[in-house]
Amino acid sequence: RIELPEDALALLSILDTAGFEAWAVGGFVRDALLGRACSDIDIACSAMWADTKRVCERAGLRTHETGVAHGTITVICGDSAFEVTTFRSDGQYKDGRHPDSVSFVSSIEEDLARRDFTINAMAWRPDRGLVDPFGGKADIELGVIRAVGDPHQRFAEDALRILRACRFSAELGYAIEPCTYQGMLENKGLLSKISAERVTHELQKLLLGPHAGDALLGCVDALSAVLPELVAMKGFDQQTPYHIFDVLEHTARVVDGVPPYPLARWAALFHDMGKPACFFKDEHGTGHFYGHAAVSVPIARGIMQRLTFSNAFIDRVLALVRRHDDVVPANPKAVKRMLARLGGDTELFAALCDLKRGDARGQSPKFSGPRIALADDLQRTLEEIIAADEAFTVKSLAINGRDVMRLGVAQGPEIGEALAQLLDAVIDGEVANLAPDLEEYVLRNVIGKSFSK
Ligand code: ATP
Ligand code: MG
Repeated sequence: RIELPEDALALLSILDTAGFEAWAVGGFVRDALLGRACSDIDIACSAMWADTKRVCERAGLRTHETGVAHGTITVICGDSAFEVTTFRSDGQYKDGRHPDSVSFVSSIEEDLARRDFTINAMAWRPDRGLVDPFGGKADIELGVIRAVGDPHQRFAEDALRILRACRFSAELGYAIEPCTYQGMLENKGLLSKISAERVTHELQKLLLGPHAGDALLGCVDALSAVLPELVAMKGFDQQTPYHIFDVLEHTARVVDGVPPYPLARWAALFHDMGKPACFFKDEHGTGHFYGHAAVSVPIARGIMQRLTFSNAFIDRVLALVRRHDDVVPANPKAVKRMLARLGGDTELFAALCDLKRGDARGQSPKFSGPRIALADDLQRTLEEIIAADEAFTVKSLAINGRDVMRLGVAQGPEIGEALAQLLDAVIDGEVANLAPDLEEYVLRNVIGKSFSK
């Protein structure tokens, strides 16, 4: 059932002919058994890296010394790059991050024993078939993430594996085997030693997974080591007619209810985080949250800064969190005004439609229908505005800051205010977006007003 691409077969055969044993391993074998395409093929080989380099270069292939300390070199064969790693077993991980030493071993079975989960600890080559000493194939059939060897020890060696387990669960929809999950909980404190970049990488893969919602719910006690903000959401009963789930389960459904791209998924994760902090009950026992979107913003900012996202990405996610509950009727004026507030970022507005739709999907089905329809209408209106090339940013106005200054508006913040006022007037249809009309509007309504003050 497994088929290796030509380039990979050629590389295995070059190493084989030179007297070395080479296998496709890890993610490729897992994904092949799952019938999924795999982007990179890792190769485990009995040769030391210097021998791999010599043999491959003699066959006319280019190589890069990408990780020779751990026995890895990259070989370019045809159009593909392959990481070829010497069979190895990892020594102690004193810092919970890197093996302090690696020792090279002689068999593929020993190499597979250092790998994290049974589904990732299989090897394959065309003439010998599958090597699966830990029952990875059976675990694929069961749909289970199971640590190779003693779970406690494996997570203590490298805490990143805790997040990898949650991530594979989100990608594959698999349950984490109970002893494995126990080992994750016992060692989750060690995640503080893992760099923010690596944590973020795994969390993002988790969030983009087709089963992200289930993984958030199922792994919340492990994930709380890197996202302690989830704890207050778990079990927080909203007590409103619109919600039948607690804040965490609602959030999980919203994450699954938006398409899998980072902007929408991160905004979905954060959108209601402020709720527990601004909840109150009225005399009828109904729950209310005043301004929860605004309360979610600083919480989300704190998390994203900790996870070292770029400021540009943080700003866009926060705009979605801040605006997710704003009432925007699906008419061109309202949509353009919201677009102006989003800095004319049409992609961000489309993400807002996705978030509003996902948010509605995560609510009680009794109320979600009209809200889903409204999000669809908003998106259609947006598309019409884009197609008609209408003005919704200060930049698209027929006059600019310099023109406004020439007409007599004082230099400084007044310029920006005048342009914003002009844009509102254009959106409201009070004035056409033509230079003479706008100039007259400035003289009459901007400068005229300040004279009359
Ligand atoms: P994908 O590439 O789809 O994210 P993958 O399983 O290929 O998933 P990689 O990070 O590419 O993940 O790692 C390749 C292989 O190396 C894994 O399948 C696993 O066997 C092993 N591996 C990776 N990271 C670890 C780790 N932290 N501990 C133990 N083994 C690991
Ligand atoms: Mg991989």
